[in-house]
Amino acid sequence: MSALSYMHDQDNGKGVEQSGEAASTRPESDIARENEELSRRVTQLAEADQRKNEFLAILSHELRNPIHAIRTNAWVIAQHCKQLEAQESTAAIERQVSLLSKLLGDLLNVISLSKEADLELEVHDARDLVQEALAATRQSIEKHHHRVVVDLGTEELPVNVDPERMVQAFMNLIENAAKYTDPGGIVTVTAKRVIGQVELRVRDTGIGIAPEDVSSLFELFKRGRSGRVRGAGGLGIGLYIASRTAREHGGQLEVESAGVGLGSEFTMTLPLHHTAPADVLEDEEQPDDEAPSAAGKLTILVVDDNRDAADSLSKLLQAYGHEVWTAYDGLEAVDLAREKRPLVALIDIALPKIDGYQVARRLARDQWGRTMTLIAVTGAGLDDDREKALAAGFRYHLVKPIDHAALEGILARL
Ligand code: ADP
Repeated sequence: MSALSYMHDQDNGKGVEQSGEAASTRPESDIARENEELSRRVTQLAEADQRKNEFLAILSHELRNPIHAIRTNAWVIAQHCKQLEAQESTAAIERQVSLLSKLLGDLLNVISLSKEADLELEVHDARDLVQEALAATRQSIEKHHHRVVVDLGTEELPVNVDPERMVQAFMNLIENAAKYTDPGGIVTVTAKRVIGQVELRVRDTGIGIAPEDVSSLFELFKRGRSGRVRGAGGLGIGLYIASRTAREHGGQLEVESAGVGLGSEFTMTLPLHHTAPADVLEDEEQPDDEAPSAAGKLTILVVDDNRDAADSLSKLLQAYGHEVWTAYDGLEAVDLAREKRPLVALIDIALPKIDGYQVARRLARDQWGRTMTLIAVTGAGLDDDREKALAAGFRYHLVKPIDHAALEGILARL
């Protein structure tokens, strides 16, 4: 039976399968009509999928604004109130904001996943990417009081990969090891060469995986029993991303677990690249060396139409000792920047009157404007958004709720 003939019968409410012979004797006009109907439905489905993606992008963008304001205000309270209760409460807000932020990141990943992956390949030492992933997940590991054992050997492990996606894949594995292991466990991360391949392993002493879950864990939205029971808050896409990323780079991801309570081990293999990474990395941008220098105190413009977000970020930056001005729409931002000529501007993108991209372009018309460091602080976190911001003249792109340690790091370098 062809899928087409089955669908046709269902449409007519008959629910009867048609034999291949009968289908082949049907007039061509019938088949053409069915094809037309089928392609109309495919278009409808694609449009519905597109609308869903747009909805998810708007939803995550809209949710990022209030979450950003909540996090920044919690930081302001923590800065000014040293009482233990206030510190504990702000730490709790911070933990919950991180969780919400991770969920929003997962939502955006779902949107990106439905697009064709656009890999930006570069040769890197896999050990550097693992180190980057370890640094980015340090907080999760510390939060769970795990011991981390890292053995990356002494040999270079060149791989030709999209670094951002690969670090994300490693992070997912390390985050999971931290999340699915009871406090005080051991997370072991190793990397080595194995016959023309790089082999990276993330092992934990955690809750393990039931044999019936092992075969389906890499499917999209699949959460193992362990994940559901622990209410760890994920959407079941981390392993799908990690395994898809491995396959897109010509490698693979495998999992082994001796069973529930017996820990898990994830192994990613990637093809070894044949040239030394240093040759290719020489051309890498070195933005930090070009950064304008200013001793400690900076002059900063904060622009956001969400007043709670703008005011709290301004207060926080003032508490760090910087001189700060605040604007609540695009035109006010340009005027204030022209008047005060700050060294740095933190600019939201979705602004009234003119948007953040236009603000950046207008500022770049003046000689002094081109020397400003522009930082996009935005709810729009897709790769396309990042590229648009960079094209408009922004040097950094921070997604709300921003990681204040990352912001402090950028400001410290200026
Ligand atoms: P999430 O963690 O958001 O549920 P993932 O795709 O990262 O989604 O993981 C899918 C499922 O795999 C989890 O729900 C969990 O049951 C299981 N899992 C992943 N990593 C581990 C691990 N290190 N130990 C035990 N179970 C794990």
